[in-house]
Amino acid sequence: MSTTANARLMDGSGIARRLVEETAARAADLTRRTGKQPCLATVLVGEDPASVTYVRMKRARCEKAGIRSHHVELPAATTTEELVATLRGLSDDPDVHGILLQHPVGRHIDERAAFEAIAPGKDVDGVTTSSFAAMSFGLPGFVSCTPGGIMRLLDAYGVDPAGKRAVVVGRSAILGKPAGMLLLARNATVTYCHSYTPAADLSAAVREADIVVAAVGRARFIKGEDIKPGAVVVDAGYNEGNVGDVDFEAAAERAGLITPVPGGVGPMTIATLLSQTVDAAERQLGAAPA
Ligand code: NAP
Repeated sequence: MSTTANARLMDGSGIARRLVEETAARAADLTRRTGKQPCLATVLVGEDPASVTYVRMKRARCEKAGIRSHHVELPAATTTEELVATLRGLSDDPDVHGILLQHPVGRHIDERAAFEAIAPGKDVDGVTTSSFAAMSFGLPGFVSCTPGGIMRLLDAYGVDPAGKRAVVVGRSAILGKPAGMLLLARNATVTYCHSYTPAADLSAAVREADIVVAAVGRARFIKGEDIKPGAVVVDAGYNEGNVGDVDFEAAAERAGLITPVPGGVGPMTIATLLSQTVDAAERQLGAAPA
């Protein structure tokens, strides 16, 4: 068990590795039983270096897990209509089981319209309104990968959110908002903070929280002194210089459990994407494991 100051580190890399191994075994089993390999389509618009790297990483992990990767590269000048048509085509393609649109896409593109062109049954990145609604109502569907990965990490460390006070700092559609909904579904008392939350209120909310999820995108934004002793601190932030949204050293003095950056939430996100891709393929091929 690794420790930093008082806190125990949540080893996202290790937990993700095990999830990817399980997923690879399921992919191999499905391929053997159906003669069809699970397939994730990745769609990249333009050449933003970070996006290029993320997609390359996701494709490499797919290949390692026995998931076929079908990559579509579109020029930066692609219009919303063209992107929507591409995503509809992939949604209709029986050889594609999951679709990932790497985002952000260019500012001239209506990102929401593009996401909505992904068939809910193939929305393994959990970005459509249909997936969000299903998740919020506790119905079957795919969860947004980073929040889904966070919940798996909490489960792996035996953290039961029921009855706990949770604060989610950030409310983006793919991260903060669904993270709060998943915690709520597991019976936490959830507070959201965002850019309109006065700093003093944000500090007060963090001070009371048993579970802190940081999803802001600002380096060391959550102060260590605000962490309640023994709290579980999950840092989804990833800022320049491999720095999270939590002031790690100071927070680790007080937290009970804390995620490192990198090696915490990031690997869980990709592992969740792969796992949901195999779920989608099992459903579409009518071949859920016995
Ligand atoms: P985003 O869309 O920019 O959302 C940031 C959120 O933070 C918004 O809800 C915003 O509030 C809130 N915020 C901004 N300034 C604030 C302030 N001063 N006080 C309180 N809240 C504030 O970012 P995102 O896509 O959710 O990503 C957040 C972070 O997670 C980034 O560092 C990103 O790199 C990282 N991330 C990591 C993974 C992973 O796999 N590890 C995946 C996705 C994202 P408003 O809504 O009011 O604007």
